[in-house]
Amino acid sequence: METVTATVRGLTPVACPPVKRRPSDYPPPVNVREFVAEPQAADDERIDVGVLFVGGGPAGLAGAIRLGQLLADDPATAEQLGEVPIALVDKGRVAGAHLLSGAVVNPSALRDLLPDTPIEQLPSYGPVKRESVYFMRERHGIRIPTPPPFHNKGNWIFSLSRLTRWMGERAEELGAFVQPETTALRLLVADGAVRGVQTAPMGLDRAGNAPSGAANFLKQLAHEAIDSGADMFVATGNHNLGPIEIYDSPGRGKRAIFYGLGNFFWSDVQEQLPADLFARNRKLLEETWQDPDKATAYDLTAPLNKSYFAHAFTFQSVIAEVRFKGNQLSEVALHPVELGYGDRLTTSGIPRLVADEGTAREILGQIVTQTARFGLPELDLRYSGTGGTIIPRR
Ligand SMILES: Cc1cc2nc3c(=O)[nH]c(=O)nc-3n(C[C@H](O)[C@H](O)[C@H](O)COP(=O)(O)OP(=O)(O)OC[C@H]3O[C@@H](n4cnc5c(N)ncnc54)[C@H](O)[C@@H]3O)c2cc1C
Repeated sequence: METVTATVRGLTPVACPPVKRRPSDYPPPVNVREFVAEPQAADDERIDVGVLFVGGGPAGLAGAIRLGQLLADDPATAEQLGEVPIALVDKGRVAGAHLLSGAVVNPSALRDLLPDTPIEQLPSYGPVKRESVYFMRERHGIRIPTPPPFHNKGNWIFSLSRLTRWMGERAEELGAFVQPETTALRLLVADGAVRGVQTAPMGLDRAGNAPSGAANFLKQLAHEAIDSGADMFVATGNHNLGPIEIYDSPGRGKRAIFYGLGNFFWSDVQEQLPADLFARNRKLLEETWQDPDKATAYDLTAPLNKSYFAHAFTFQSVIAEVRFKGNQLSEVALHPVELGYGDRLTTSGIPRLVADEGTAREILGQIVTQTARFGLPELDLRYSGTGGTIIPRR
């Protein structure tokens, strides 16, 4: 039988079993169609960009930064790449949020990428000062001379997550549009050329529905709060309307629990915008806004942000009016509210009472569905015009 021996000077050779199988011998079944498709989305569901980087790790961000540097010196090419010459999407809440490595980094690539930034100005934990390598036995470790490939002289210590957040800011300063919380799902290919990526829907469960809006522990917490004297329990969490429960508390009677009232207003504050955003987007403004000189940052970013607010249910809520008679819950009146789904960012996000019956029923219907999905008793909900009333069952 073939054997391999590992030897370290001064130690007894260890016999390793021969390698018989490797993980690469068992590739998972892959259907290419799952990952590659033809572009289909309608124009208004598409963001046209010049160059798109998928993934805000060191590689994607270094690419975005380098391209930003090159385009800064070549405005004609930047112009050809359209309103958003460089874009980057990452799954994490910010670029770098998914990177866990505490890395010892050879800084030469960072020096090449950012020649004007001394390595000391990067968010590091300083240079490697000393290193030791141990050969670990069951009860003790033996310090051995550092093998040449393990030498870290000249390397620096980083949290990769902190480094990539910092790189994300540099990329944005150079004009890249960094879109977090966005997962690229499929590569879109037409006529043999890559046309873009399809992104995964956000905020939906596996079946494509709005999530139930309530964590399971919340039910026990709500019941205990009411048993302990609360007259009502109101929670919020997911960006959608959640279940309502009329809870019969032993000795106290019925009380209302709102497991999630969705969004009552939207305010998307763009904290970091490139200084030349107005100049670069003037053409876009002239096409979409009558008076570009009076435009706000919202106007500039609205067309880019459309996919972020992709679901109508994140723009719907209710005002709940809880009425008591003789210290007992008598009814809960629900007044549906909508926040201007599909409007421009300057006008959307502001709550208005729903004026048409169809939309009102759709919004109240969400509460009914979510209540059933959370396994709660059916609500006695009576629709009337553009509102509804829940009457506690006797
Ligand atoms: C535990 C550990 C320790 C390490 N230690 C060191 C070290 O000491 N020194 C060193 O130099 N290197 C180290 N490395 C290696 C180093 O981390 C990688 O080489 C480097 O991170 C690779 O960069 P990348 O940009 O190619 O990919 P990644 O860093 O993996 O970044 C990929 C990014 O893409 C995002 N992403 C993935 N799929 C999608 C999608 N479908 N849509 C949108 N976004 C997506 C992810 O969220 C992630 O932010 C270590 C790695 C690990 C795991």
